[in-house]
Parts: sequence; C-alpha cells; structure tokens
Amino acid sequence: MPEIVRSVKGTRDLLPEEIRLWQKVEEEARAAFRAYNFMEIRTPVLEHTSLFARSVGADTDIVSKEMFTFEDRDGESLTLRPEATASVVRAYIEHRLFNEGGIHKLFYLGPMFRRERPQKGRYRQFYQIGAEVLGSDEPETDVDALEMLHALLVMRLRLRDSRLLVNSVGCPRCRPSYVSALRHALENVKDRLCADCQRRSQTNPLRVLDCKVEADQPIIATLPTILDYLCVECREHFDAVKRGLDERAIEYQVTPRLVRGLDYYVRTTFEITSGALGAQNAVAGGGRYDGLAELLGGPQAPGFGFAIGEDRLVLAYGAVEDRAGAEDLIYIAWLEESSLRPAAELARELRQENLRVELLFHPMKFKKSLAAASKMTATFSVIIGPNEASTGRFAVKNMSTGEQEPVERARIADYLRAKLKELNH
Ligand SMILES: [Zn+2]
Ligand SMILES: [Zn+2]
Repeated sequence: MPEIVRSVKGTRDLLPEEIRLWQKVEEEARAAFRAYNFMEIRTPVLEHTSLFARSVGADTDIVSKEMFTFEDRDGESLTLRPEATASVVRAYIEHRLFNEGGIHKLFYLGPMFRRERPQKGRYRQFYQIGAEVLGSDEPETDVDALEMLHALLVMRLRLRDSRLLVNSVGCPRCRPSYVSALRHALENVKDRLCADCQRRSQTNPLRVLDCKVEADQPIIATLPTILDYLCVECREHFDAVKRGLDERAIEYQVTPRLVRGLDYYVRTTFEITSGALGAQNAVAGGGRYDGLAELLGGPQAPGFGFAIGEDRLVLAYGAVEDRAGAEDLIYIAWLEESSLRPAAELARELRQENLRVELLFHPMKFKKSLAAASKMTATFSVIIGPNEASTGRFAVKNMSTGEQEPVERARIADYLRAKLKELNH
C-alpha cells in the first residue's frame, strides 16, 4: 500500500464541524463592514517579493525569516503574502483608484502565509480579516474604523475581556529624535537584555519595545517613551483620536510601548486583546501608514487599517458561543415505501423556503430513523406514515423535549419557522 499523503506542516484542514464558526464570524464581519460602507477587494496570494521587502521592511522578522519566498521557473522571486495591507495599497496604485478622488474604504478576508516555527495555535497558513481606508489623514478616520472594529468584535461577536490599546509612533519628522534617545538609553542597559534585543538595539531600537521576554520587561519599562517626543502635529492628531474615542464612549488604554512590528506605521497604532485567549492574546491590530503608498511608487495617499487574526477570533468566539451556527436541521422521517414520495415533496418545499432539511433514502424502522435524526442533532423531525398521508396532518416532533404535535401539511413551513424563532430567542 502506498503511504498516505498528508497536509503540509503548519497548515490544516477546516472540517465541516468547525466551519460553521468561521462562516458566522465572516458573516458578522461582512455585515459590520457593510454598515460602514466598506467594499470588498480580493488580491492574489502571490506577489513579487519586492512588494514586502519595500513595505513591511527588509530587516523585520517577517521579511528576513518568516516569508514563503521561492524562485519561480523563470528566476523571478515570488512570495506568498504574509499580510495584505501592502497588496491592497499595490492594487490601489496599480489601478489608479486615487484618480477617482475621495476616500477608498476596502476590506478583505483570506489566507496569509508565514513560515514561523511551529507552535500551538500558530499556523503557517492563517487567516486574516482586515480593512483599509485610503486617502484620508484625518483622526476621525482612525476613530471611525476603531468604532467599526469595536462594533464587530464586542457588540456582534461578544469578545470577552477585550481591551483597546492605543499609541502614537510619531512621524518621520519627530521619530528620529526619539530613536536616538532610545539608542542612547539602550547603551547603558543593553548588556542586561536578551540576545535579540542586543542585536535590535543596533539595527532597529524600536523593536526592543516589542520584546516578549519576561526578564527584559522591567528594563524596557525604564526606557524613554515616544509620547514625550511627538511633534506638534502628531501630538494634535493623537489628542484628536483620543477625544473621538471618548466621545463615542469606546474605552482604551494609552500604551506608549506599543510600536507594532512593521516599518510603515506612523502616528496611530493600536491592538485589541482578549482575556479569552490567554498569553497570545492579541486579536487585532493596525494603525496609520501615511507614507506607504509613496514607498510603493504611488502618489501621497495617507491610510489607516487593521487586520484581525481570524484563527484566534474563531477560537475566542467558539468559547463564548456554544449555539453558534448550530443551524437548525429539520429531519424528515418516512415510515413506508408509499410515504417516501410525499416526504421528498415536503423536503423540496421546505428547502425552497430556505430551511435546512435532511431526508435519507434507504428504508428504516421508525426507531432507527429517529435515532439517525438525534445523531444529526436535528431540532425537529417531521414524521410521515400512512396515517399522516391520509389525514393530511403530519406529526412534528421537537427532538430535545420529545413533544409531538400534528400539523396541517400546508402549515408546516410556517409552523417550523415560528417554532425555530421561539427557540433561538
Ligand atoms: Zn511627528
Ligand atoms: Zn528582549
């Protein structure tokens, strides 16, 4: 026997049993985006490597260590996208969407790829749901997108113990003075920091603030904070974002060490964490990237965006929502050869009414048929025997209570819909 072929390390199949949660999360995301007039964009998973080297930053962990990069047959370097902001901005420039003027509000859903060390809950093909606003540098844009994200995560998906952490990372005018102050302060303490931090304090001191090593935290806490170095414009922008969040009653916490891992961020950065997720608790993150379009050869086009880790969100959502997507199933039990036809007719009608219906074709004894219904966790069974066929009333059985009621054939769809509505309230 030949060996079986397995899925690639770090990837996984999403089986029908768990897919309901994913669909529910995606449905709510689409509804939230729609309410704020965001339009979907789909970009390829395959891009030129230079797109990410230029945007994400050549000396970030993502680009230097974690990308799925390969040489194509003609020698060109291609990469499976590690994130989607760069792709969305590329598309915005390539199709000259900026010519239309105004603001572009876009969202995306899909797989991303990073060749990380395998660990629990981390996948090399993972999923993100994200949104980008291009063409506006106003602080209200940041606030509006954060409100939408809050509506999705907290109001619609009831994410537990969530916290919004916000910061400003300044701009190319004010950040250099902070970075040199940081570099200076690191001179004195870097010997006591982890090996990564010692390297980062030379190459990219901001990344030291990102370090997750426990022993480094008390030292990192003593380093200067960027909020003391913001220029007037950055300070005003940040104050306006905070004011906007206050006005909309969205709670937040200013977190000066929050710098995010990507080079293109300016001014607002943020993260949303959830207590439902333990140590790896960030569910979403993002910020402002006013210089990114120019970096990619486009016109000046300020932007703000975020990405949600869908794998983690589904995990958190599954923990709160036990009935999630347990979409009700109607099972049709037929008892004799002669009732198969009326059963099939009823099934077709109920399906046209958008109900989820199962009808099995091989003959079974009554008891065995109902056992099959329970196994599928049907909410109701409709029972059709010779008796029912002659009276025109079918027995409808509530599978969890065992209650059974005769219902006129013509009324069955309405009856089921009313009962399901009651149950799901
Ligand atoms: Zn500034
Ligand atoms: Zn460290």
